[in-house]
Amino acid sequence: MDFKLTEDQMMLVDAARKISERHIQPLLASRGKRTALSRQDVLEILSKAADVGLTSARIPEEGGGMGMKMLDYGLVMEQMPPTVGLIVQPHEATTTRIYFGGSPEQKSKFVPRLIEGTLIGATGSTEPDCGSDPRGIKTTGEWRGDDIIVNGRKQWISNSTVCDVIHITCRIPREEGGYRMGRILVDRSESAFDAEEVEMHGLCQAPLGEVSFTDCRVPRSNICPDDENTARLLTITWLANRPAVGLMAVHLAQKALDMAREYVGVRKQFGKHIGAFQSIQVDLADMETLVMSSRLLCYNALSAIDHDVRANGLSAMAKRYAVDACDRAIALAMRVHGAMGLSAELGLEQMARDVRTLSIPDGTPGILALIQGRELTGIDAFRS
Ligand SMILES: Cc1cc2nc3c(=O)[nH]c(=O)nc-3n(C[C@H](O)[C@H](O)[C@H](O)COP(=O)(O)OP(=O)(O)OC[C@H]3O[C@@H](n4cnc5c(N)ncnc54)[C@H](O)[C@@H]3O)c2cc1C
Repeated sequence: MDFKLTEDQMMLVDAARKISERHIQPLLASRGKRTALSRQDVLEILSKAADVGLTSARIPEEGGGMGMKMLDYGLVMEQMPPTVGLIVQPHEATTTRIYFGGSPEQKSKFVPRLIEGTLIGATGSTEPDCGSDPRGIKTTGEWRGDDIIVNGRKQWISNSTVCDVIHITCRIPREEGGYRMGRILVDRSESAFDAEEVEMHGLCQAPLGEVSFTDCRVPRSNICPDDENTARLLTITWLANRPAVGLMAVHLAQKALDMAREYVGVRKQFGKHIGAFQSIQVDLADMETLVMSSRLLCYNALSAIDHDVRANGLSAMAKRYAVDACDRAIALAMRVHGAMGLSAELGLEQMARDVRTLSIPDGTPGILALIQGRELTGIDAFRS
């Protein structure tokens, strides 16, 4: 087992860090912290993310993508501010779902421009009455000639307010009567829908909205041709998304640890640097342990995916642990900073809100624990 990055991985991490520092962080810093980015800003971010493979990580090279190892994808994601992760990951996951589960026409219509970052993608599954359990979806289509008319609402959908195409789960009428669960690509340039921005607890710069489809007319050709392979391929997207979200939390907690280390070397009380107090050193040691263990669990899950090892439990464990551990690490960093830690000026309180926001997308802690528990026991606690 080798814990060192290869030369290629170091170059990739370096390239990602430079893009983040030179282009992305200045853009985010120049915008309101509690205001969602504009469509133009999102396009700018996607074009930079495309340079390091983040818009096409799971699309093979023959499909025009980067075909990255998932561990490399995670290493790059860890360098990016989580706002970028929350924009780019749903975009890339949408592209991957179209590439693997779309028709040839759908692929050629959307995938190349999604990869280059000139179109913005979103995926809408969650609804007001249907979150963790996807079987409760109510959004429904009805046939009208060559079109399907969609009615329903999707909630908490990343990129939905600025996207060009939204990939939705929907009840689709069967020819023989009744409905099946299917996926539809709603292209905003041909099918009108509303999306309203929702202000969240953290990561507010990442656009996130509530989407309404009211008699939304979509061509029949935009229905995805699901086959038995699709479900497997969709699961693979979830598997890598979870540790990648964990690494977004690691990005924040590492920053908090770096800030705390610096502060304890300059702040003096009782005539000495607070870093000389034993309890402060314990806080720092705890923070480093939380950050390092989170990082390693996420790398481990991504590496398992690369090696075709079953990763359902590993990936759920990595995200659940990392977000929670990084939340605790940031809370410790705030405490080490005293009152300064609570100030808006320093930014740690913003990081605390941001990391907590990461606990919900791609599986809540409760759901992730049940996925891990199912791997441990072989018993499905969801529906047993
Ligand atoms: C920042 C952000 C971005 C998002 N982006 C998207 C997106 O792009 N597309 C999209 O479709 N959705 C998105 N979502 C929605 C997200 O996927 C859902 O919020 C999530 O699946 C949980 O659903 P819910 O909020 O309805 O909670 P619920 O499912 O109502 O759960 C409420 C609580 O009950 C617990 N719970 C539920 N069932 C069980 C159980 N069986 N056992 C134990 N506990 C249980 C949950 O863990 C949770 O704590 C996003 C959410 C956020 C916050």
